[in-house]
Amino acid sequence: MGEKKRIGLVAHDFRKRDLIDWADYNRDILMEHELFGTGTTGGLLADKLDLPVHRFMSGPLGGDLQIGASIAESKLDILIFFWDPLMAQPHDVDVKALLRISIVYNIALACDRTSADFLITSDLLNKKYDRFLVDYGDRLKSLKVDE
Ligand code: PGA
Repeated sequence: MGEKKRIGLVAHDFRKRDLIDWADYNRDILMEHELFGTGTTGGLLADKLDLPVHRFMSGPLGGDLQIGASIAESKLDILIFFWDPLMAQPHDVDVKALLRISIVYNIALACDRTSADFLITSDLLNKKYDRFLVDYGDRLKSLKVDE
């Protein structure tokens, strides 16, 4: 990861107000980095906070998967994902895929405001950082052998 981080921002409908509040509070810090968002979340961040955000499709229409693909292609360093813990989503499988791929690629992931606060105030935010990648190769091989 370079000094300037590529940050993904996603919020389910019930959590969008939280994310906008959080981003407003941290606007100056966010401005120093490159921002990406799912369609509606990204649109709100751009309209309400005048933040430059690269927008993917809306989450339920493939935006979560586009963010996940960016993570797999090492195009995102951080994901702030305020998902709704009290309501099933029509695209729950995409949500699960996005959370899963974030762990596979060991990016910095915050799913609630406290974690997002700790992450955004980290000394590492403006430093280069070598992300450790787990080598799943052997395990994948042994899974195949066991079949
Ligand atoms: P949205 O997508 O920003 O387009 O609402 C978020 C999501 O539901 O994943």
